[in-house]
Amino acid sequence: MTATIIDGKAFAARVRGQVAEHVTRLRAEHGITPGLAVVLVGEDPASEVYVRSKGKMTVEAGMKSVELRLDADTSEADLLAVIDQLNTDPEIHGILVQLPLPGHLNEDLVINSISPAKDVDGFHISNVGLLGTGQKSMVPCTPLGCLMMLRDHHGSISGMDAVVVGRSNIVGKPMAQLLLGDSCTVTIAHSRTKDLADVVRRADIVVAAVGRPEMVPGDWIKPGATVIDVGINRLDAPERGAGKTRLVGDVHYESCAAVAGAITPVPGGVGPMTIACLLANTVTACCRANGLVEPEGLTA
Ligand code: NDP
Repeated sequence: MTATIIDGKAFAARVRGQVAEHVTRLRAEHGITPGLAVVLVGEDPASEVYVRSKGKMTVEAGMKSVELRLDADTSEADLLAVIDQLNTDPEIHGILVQLPLPGHLNEDLVINSISPAKDVDGFHISNVGLLGTGQKSMVPCTPLGCLMMLRDHHGSISGMDAVVVGRSNIVGKPMAQLLLGDSCTVTIAHSRTKDLADVVRRADIVVAAVGRPEMVPGDWIKPGATVIDVGINRLDAPERGAGKTRLVGDVHYESCAAVAGAITPVPGGVGPMTIACLLANTVTACCRANGLVEPEGLTA
């Protein structure tokens, strides 16, 4: 079998197009422009790249983009004051604090200081609780993107056996909640799971969010299963020239694609969906803040 490739890049472009259409309608019919503020503390080069591309795509979708760059030694009190200001700014509907934060800042405290209604990353403890109890919440962007791709590929995933490898708060756990919400039978695997290969082999849907390059081989995959690879790992690639690198996921793409029914590539799979879902969450937050109908298909 050769797997169908789930093209996250094309799907994300479609989602961004839907977001842009909704933004145009919000402005024309209600005079409202959704606004997203991204706060970056320090100069982590990877975070810089993410923040720049988030800002660019926010503007391309017709929304207001605010980027706040703070020094690496910004105090917790000063950062909380910035967030407080954004919480009360009526032109800002989504707030994202780029992680990781410098070590002297308490990430939980900072994230939980964002107004839950503007928490477009879905990391605030209130949103975590709402998602866990099946209530309307802001949903973390990466798992939301995975869910959208699964729904698009399968129509319904109700009753399917899903295994999520990884139990982080930002990917693994919310992913499992979303799959449960869509009536999958969900197993969460992690570094202490016994017989991981056998656990994965039972799955109709495998979501790998481990952070270990190419860890899941093809012989762990049930023939015809759908494989969603969240991993982003940069490896040295001397064969491409001195100092060159390449991106790989958490699954071994070639061997898994030979067995799976469908698979997301890296790059071009889950990655592009994450920013698209950030934009979708900002529009959703804006609609909720103004008591307006939310765009269809852009939330869980
Ligand atoms: P974390 O490091 O926070 O979590 C990794 C999880 O994998 C942990 O639960 C850990 O288990 C588990 N794990 C580690 N080793 C093994 C193993 N040998 N067998 C089974 N489970 C194992 O990572 P994240 O969830 O933040 O990210 C996961 C991956 O997704 C990374 O590659 C990251 O770069 C990528 N990512 C991609 C995004 C995107 O936009 N595409 C967004 C966010 C992340 P335990 O809890 O027992 O330690």
